[in-house]
Amino acid sequence: MDGLGDKPILDLDGRTPLEAARTPHFDELATRGACGIMDVVEPGMPVGSDIAHLLIFGYTREDYPGRGPLEALGVGMELQPGDVALRGNLANIDQGMNIIDRRAGRRIPEAGEIITILNNMVEESGGIEGVKVEFRHSTEQRVACVLRGPGISHCISDTNPNRDYVPVAECKPLDDSPEARKTARVINNLTKKIYESLKDNPINKQRKAKGQPQVNCILTHGAGMIQSVPSFQEKFHVRAACVTGNGVIRGVCRYLGINVMPCPGATGTINTDLEAKIETLLQSLQKVDIGILHIKATDSSGHDNKPFQKKEFLENIDSIVGHGLVSGVDWEDTCAVITADHSTPCENADHSGDPVPVLIVGKNIIHDEVRSLGERSCAGGYLGRISSHSLMNMILNRLGRQKKFGA
Ligand code: ZN
Ligand code: ZN
Repeated sequence: MDGLGDKPILDLDGRTPLEAARTPHFDELATRGACGIMDVVEPGMPVGSDIAHLLIFGYTREDYPGRGPLEALGVGMELQPGDVALRGNLANIDQGMNIIDRRAGRRIPEAGEIITILNNMVEESGGIEGVKVEFRHSTEQRVACVLRGPGISHCISDTNPNRDYVPVAECKPLDDSPEARKTARVINNLTKKIYESLKDNPINKQRKAKGQPQVNCILTHGAGMIQSVPSFQEKFHVRAACVTGNGVIRGVCRYLGINVMPCPGATGTINTDLEAKIETLLQSLQKVDIGILHIKATDSSGHDNKPFQKKEFLENIDSIVGHGLVSGVDWEDTCAVITADHSTPCENADHSGDPVPVLIVGKNIIHDEVRSLGERSCAGGYLGRISSHSLMNMILNRLGRQKKFGA
């Protein structure tokens, strides 16, 4: 559960949303299992969902390719070694390149059309300095962008200053290499070409007539280059599948060769189809060794500082996913882990460096005195305080797939 961990909230009588939520199924699993708390990177260090999932899946910080490549993979783009991928925001700027709205109003139903116009524009101009550019729409104002061509680098700065009413930031090389200088030139050139090709487009005339912000710029950030990492199967000799409605987690899975199960109702929002998700997960277990179910909206409720929404959503998760686990799993040969990628306390409205609860349940596990899934209750469990890099070891050990170290 993304961003599950939280802090005591006054309006919940000093309990966290997870502690305040009625979760009989998770509590039953806690009673049968072993609990603990987990630091995803190290104590006190907040972390993004993308790298957090890589770490939980047993990879290291060095395996992180940057946000851009994961976003591009998440929207289904193919990446080749040497490609530079970035995240982009459709935005509204004035003719002096000052940002009026860095998200162009967020609601952009014409985004797909706009992306087609831009892709055609770059293709017809034969690329920029021999570099091909391809965009793809993700959600709302978000796009992914892939640069392909000789002599390019991901060591470039963002053009998105993350504020309105300031100029579009110039893309600068972050090292002295000719590759970084060239890539920065390509991005700056591209930014101008995008403005020129969109400023008088009929789509923008229609948006203007409706009082909506113009869409005439793409602000970039998170440049990265794909690197070759061993797939999940090569690394751990187990097959895995994932059910998620979230683009970045889909990207992480594609990066690691983890099969993302089709599940149309999975939206990554509070309205996600939890029944379809648990059903898809349980089906996947017939074909793979490890099934992963990712639920996003616990994190979004934290970002929005909505503790009651987080609590109610957790009750929903318990009654559908928790119930599905308790009653739909063959516990003779299955082990389940319930945890989070980081804490997103409502009070912070962002990720924090607090540890997350972790619960492992399965046949013959040494269970402890913990009777409920919660930040404080789990801290008193048998697992103690673990680090995310131990998690895959513990899972493989449970599955009897862990290789012996030494003779
Ligand atoms: Zn997250
Ligand atoms: Zn988050």
